Amino acid sequence: MKTILLSLLAAALSGLGFGQATSQPAPSVIERQPLDRWLGDWTFETTTRASPFGAGGTNVGACSVLPLLAGQGGEFRDMANGPQENLRRIEPDGFDPAHGGFFWSSFAGDAAVIDPAYTFDGPRVAMVGTLRARDKRYRLRSLVTFADDFQSFTDRREISADGVHWTLLSESRAAKVGAVLAAPDRDTPQSAPPEATSPRPGSLAPTPRTALPPLQQQWLAKAYRHEKAGWIFLHIEGEPRERGFQHGYLLAPEIAECLRVRRALWRYYTSLEWPDLLKETARFMTPRLDPENRAELLGIVDGLAAAGVPVTLDDLVAYNARFELEWYWWPEVVKKSAGGSTAVTPPRQSCSAFIATGAMTRGGGVVLGHNTMFDYAEAGCRLILDLVPARGHRLLMQTFPGMIHSGTDFFITDAGLVGAETTIGGFSGFSEWGIPEFVRMRRATQDAATIDEWCAIMQEGNNGGYANAWLLGDVNTGEIARLELGLEHSALERSRDGFFLGSNVAENLKILRRETGTNESDIRASSIARRVRWKQLMREHRGRIDVALAQQFEADHYDTYTKSERPGGRTLCGHHELDADYAPGWFNAPFDHWGTIDAKVVDTAMAKRMSFAARWGSACGRAFDAERYLEDHPQYDWLDGLLKDLPSEPWVEFTAGEKQ
Ligand SMILES: [Zn+2]
Repeated sequence: MKTILLSLLAAALSGLGFGQATSQPAPSVIERQPLDRWLGDWTFETTTRASPFGAGGTNVGACSVLPLLAGQGGEFRDMANGPQENLRRIEPDGFDPAHGGFFWSSFAGDAAVIDPAYTFDGPRVAMVGTLRARDKRYRLRSLVTFADDFQSFTDRREISADGVHWTLLSESRAAKVGAVLAAPDRDTPQSAPPEATSPRPGSLAPTPRTALPPLQQQWLAKAYRHEKAGWIFLHIEGEPRERGFQHGYLLAPEIAECLRVRRALWRYYTSLEWPDLLKETARFMTPRLDPENRAELLGIVDGLAAAGVPVTLDDLVAYNARFELEWYWWPEVVKKSAGGSTAVTPPRQSCSAFIATGAMTRGGGVVLGHNTMFDYAEAGCRLILDLVPARGHRLLMQTFPGMIHSGTDFFITDAGLVGAETTIGGFSGFSEWGIPEFVRMRRATQDAATIDEWCAIMQEGNNGGYANAWLLGDVNTGEIARLELGLEHSALERSRDGFFLGSNVAENLKILRRETGTNESDIRASSIARRVRWKQLMREHRGRIDVALAQQFEADHYDTYTKSERPGGRTLCGHHELDADYAPGWFNAPFDHWGTIDAKVVDTAMAKRMSFAARWGSACGRAFDAERYLEDHPQYDWLDGLLKDLPSEPWVEFTAGEKQ
């Protein structure tokens, strides 16, 4: 029943007729012009009344209208989330020059067909048509009224069984993605009280929460954030659009800042302008988003817009894909354009991780530890995201504001899975035909109930981007695994009584020899020195590994090349900023602004209660002073305004659902 009601909404949003035959003359610009107003991405909300079709209710959805046949028509795709069901629909629509009018075709899942014709009158679109459902037939009329800027509209629907007596069926509001969905008149407070919020960046004025449409206020009532020891904890829940809105609205200042830094670093590291990058990602990445991830990203766009931060879907795709774009896709582009030159930045070596189980650990359960070695200029990943999807598994993961995957990566799920990764050092290769890594990672983590399912989702459509060695654990069975995922080769190892390590060296010979340029014996290299250190620690502490030891490991400063305590680029807790040495396989410059920016640990008991411990900033607690660093190393003066301090913070524990 909802399907019929939703199809009414679809009618409102489309209003495009379909050019039935390409041999027909193309409509004139004036005739076609009204079609343009439908093109783009929309968000909508429809409230239906009780009617012969059902009890009514509120549906929320997203739709995209793409041009067809050189502007003669449009392809209309929408999905909606309602109280009872979800709808996906594709409709061809357009202008029929033979009849000089607009019409469209819509076939709903329950065989309802509606066939309205439209007329445009300035900002208004009037529709009359027939609604047939099973054996019943109704007259349908609607009036769509656009706002002056054509960025939003309202739609009022009525039905009649006899063509004489009309009853209200539905009222809808729609807005272009990034524009604010207007509050219904009756619910708009006369003078909305200003909400106490920190100033938000961006050119638009933020919409106070109390002035948002009631539905968005209801959404926000389910979400919350607080800050602890340098971290932000954010709880979001519900349908994709809903939780995306919560994320975008509640983290708007942080997302805006992360995007500002990302755009600046992208341009500096690649020389490619951000808008030119977006043209590329719109070509080979955005079309490969699955509907749920796309809807969540569109929700973030809307939440940001409501908070006064204008951001596009393409911005968020490029931002979410930052690892695979900068480290994997771009080097391949340069390689091709330079006629085979490999003189481009290799994938960064970063992160130190281990997972152990069985006889290795105190108590025999799973223990996982991970730290992120990353660019201090982009140390924005201080978000602990507690995500409760309407379908799939609850996630608690570290991530960056505005990302729908982890990125760093560290996660636990209510399926009993824990996971982390370290990048495969010296790797090259990327396929534009594959599914983006960030899409697969999120799908795997939300959808998988077992290690096998998680790995299968990651491998399906692998694009080679962000080629990682994934360390996985199932705390229900005590099994651990390592999935090394190259582009051409992959390897899955499993154990119920052992450990797997991650320090940016491929362990699988095919990946090592055929997909990386790593010399696995050169202990001057960070990855090799750290691998040696991990093995020492595993030998020394066999049978005793627990959360406390895992915290020590991640903060370890023993350099296996110089055989001394010496925090630097070669230590598990990385400090390239302190290192004057040239490190093979690393950047060609000393004192790099790169090192450990966090540490996280979890064991079986914590994972079972959806909890893990984390430390923001260097895993050892050493603070990083941006101003002093730039004074000492003026060769990095271009980072002025981007680089931030990393203060010393304590270890703290996070639990899904915590309120403070
Ligand atoms: Zn350290």
